[in-house]
Amino acid sequence: MAAAVPPLIATLEAGGTKMIAGLASGPGSILLRKQIPTTSPEETLDTLIDFFSKAARAYPAPGALAVGSFGPVDLDRSSPTFGQLTDTPKPGWAGTNLLSSLQRTLGVPSVIETDVNASLYGESRWGAAKRCLSSAYLTVGTGIGGGLMLEGRLVHGTGHPEMGHMMVRPHEEDRFTGCCPFHGRCLEGLASGPALEKRWKVPAAELPPGHIAWTYQADYLAQACLNLLMIAPPERIILGGGVMHQSHLFPMIRRRLKELLHSYLPYPQLREDLTEFIVPPSLGADSALLGCVALGQDFLRSGKGRPLN
Ligand code: ADP
Ligand code: ZN
Repeated sequence: MAAAVPPLIATLEAGGTKMIAGLASGPGSILLRKQIPTTSPEETLDTLIDFFSKAARAYPAPGALAVGSFGPVDLDRSSPTFGQLTDTPKPGWAGTNLLSSLQRTLGVPSVIETDVNASLYGESRWGAAKRCLSSAYLTVGTGIGGGLMLEGRLVHGTGHPEMGHMMVRPHEEDRFTGCCPFHGRCLEGLASGPALEKRWKVPAAELPPGHIAWTYQADYLAQACLNLLMIAPPERIILGGGVMHQSHLFPMIRRRLKELLHSYLPYPQLREDLTEFIVPPSLGADSALLGCVALGQDFLRSGKGRPLN
């Protein structure tokens, strides 16, 4: 008997500066992938509707729509504002509901997650956390976002994780007051790309390896990993986002985490030098797109995916 063909999923990675729309059924079968800038909600939505309408004429119909969105976003399916961006500081976007608008266009069941949870889902199905039941993903870019999977399920709560705003202990020589408008020196306020640029007066990409900036940065990210380990120990932590293109940070973070741990936890993933514990993503720019594919396929398999109208 031939193996069942996995269903085609319409995907959307929705970010504050760019969106990536796609049509795919797995890593080897990404039929379409298009990047568009995030401008006004109306203009962006029109471009997305145009993309998906053209896709529908050229390819078989997708089985579901899956969105990985920037936040904060309402992920509660029973809420009247399900799928809506809540109080995002991005001008004009609070109250926008990409999910419901696109679902009306496509007429298929839909599912939504945070962008970082979608990336984690992709990495967990096909990438760097493939054989892990529990894993986490921290993305260090314009902001800092975090996702957590425990025993194969993405973790929520009231809302979704907001790991970028966890508190870390400032390095004793770091005089920067932080750039988070809500908390000043939270993790994002100290260690996001804009925090690096504001503190050192040059774009993060221009800070040379060996600069003291990276000692602070490794300390903050190691503390974030330590906090994750103390709350719900993952088997692996993936660190992605623009700032993590600085690959020399990986060994620095691992070393700092070892120091902070002081041999405290006995877990096997913490033996040796942590090269298997703190890792970069392995799906490159496609983590979130493929995560959306996996989310959409699992949603259909679960039987919960019914068209709303
Ligand atoms: P976004 O978070 O907007 O989705 P990115 O993950 O690319 O996008 O993050 C952008 C941030 O990452 C910017 O603040 C930028 O300065 C920083 N960044 C991008 N590339 C590098 C690099 N090679 N080294 C250090 N920082 C970088
Ligand atoms: Zn904050």
